[in-house]
Amino acid sequence: MENAVLITIGDEILSGNTVDTNSNFIATELKNIGIKVKQIFTISDEIETIKNTLQKAFELGDLVITTGGLGPTRDDKTKKALAEFFNDEIALDETTFNHLKTYMERRGRADILERNREQAFVPTKSVVFQNNFGTAPCMMMEQNGKLSFSLPGVPYEVKPLIKDQIVPYLQEKFNLNYIHTRIVSVVGIPESILADIIEDWELALPENMTLSYLPVGTRVKLRITASGENEERLKEQTENEIQKLLPLIEKNVIAISEDKIENILSEILTERKLTISTAESCTGGEIAKMITSVSGSSKYFLGGIVPYATEKKIKILGISRETVDQFTVVSEQVAQEMAKGCQKLFDTDISLSTTGVAGPGKGEDGKDIGTVFYTIRIRDQEVTSKLYMPHLERIDFMNFVSQKVIQDLI
Ligand code: ATP
Ligand code: MG
Repeated sequence: MENAVLITIGDEILSGNTVDTNSNFIATELKNIGIKVKQIFTISDEIETIKNTLQKAFELGDLVITTGGLGPTRDDKTKKALAEFFNDEIALDETTFNHLKTYMERRGRADILERNREQAFVPTKSVVFQNNFGTAPCMMMEQNGKLSFSLPGVPYEVKPLIKDQIVPYLQEKFNLNYIHTRIVSVVGIPESILADIIEDWELALPENMTLSYLPVGTRVKLRITASGENEERLKEQTENEIQKLLPLIEKNVIAISEDKIENILSEILTERKLTISTAESCTGGEIAKMITSVSGSSKYFLGGIVPYATEKKIKILGISRETVDQFTVVSEQVAQEMAKGCQKLFDTDISLSTTGVAGPGKGEDGKDIGTVFYTIRIRDQEVTSKLYMPHLERIDFMNFVSQKVIQDLI
């Protein structure tokens, strides 16, 4: 069991109404047990398309996972396609019906059990994994040693089915190991010197652990990967090894985390007990959103504002009208005053500010689109930078700037 293929079924994904988050989740969970996703198909709710894609998917991988199109509504056609593809019939499954009955009763909806009865009809050759968070069961089919799992589309139903049922099932059946990864970010030591410093530690790593060096800008990320049967045990083992590594490079380690910069920021701010606030104009709150997406961020993120109108920058942040008149609102000086005002407003150690023109079209003061000034203020010190990216779409521009500001800070 090495390669998987994912099939996302649903017109609402193709039309852009729904963003496919299921594939991202499933691919990550499979990676954790060493199964690589080779291809992801996104297709419409059409029986022929579903059948053709199942055919292609089985040619490409040993495991096929589909999500979506299992509801009782007429536009959901996955089950019919599944039965036709596997030359099977759909019939009422008693166990599934009883599960559905209990599920409905527990929610006080026994009155609509009959209308949902159809959900308990499954291909006769399928093995059912019961869904504890919805009415559509997950069906497993087998063909020449290859497996397919068909799940409903709703993410909060997909997650427990994958994590609590399918992953443990695959692990047991194919004897698969868990893979656990941690990243230690190091600054101020070039890669070759770092390799020398930690050589003995690296050589002494247990056999199930590997180390790789990932240089990024001025940082080197050390990625430690461990594989084994027991997830908890792996985590413990990895933490032990990190504890042995730290004394060797302690002063240069800025974070131990997963890869996202907002997580790294979280670790730095928590560790150093620093607080932060934001005043964002052209990023529209995106930086605050990134910071608060990390659980526990309330410990260090005290607040953020989006003073979009120049008048509000003046009124709320205390920027002087003269500065605006003299330098325009998209300027180094305004970015600096915004950061200073924000730091005062929220009384934080650190404040971040952005002012720029995300476009399209020219800004009110004629500055070219794609220009942004941002200030990072830490206590009484500050650094202001300028970026010019006229090629980016509005949303990409906001995301890019937000990432860049946080990256600069850490
Ligand atoms: P239901 O019984 O709710 O109809 P279903 O199996 O028929 O479930 P869909 O109708 O395809 O699933 O999707 C239900 C909802 O789940 C969608 O409206 C969408 O909000 C969400 N959804 C579906 N597929 C995905 C996906 N790949 N990523 C994220 N959300 C999804
Ligand atoms: Mg549906």
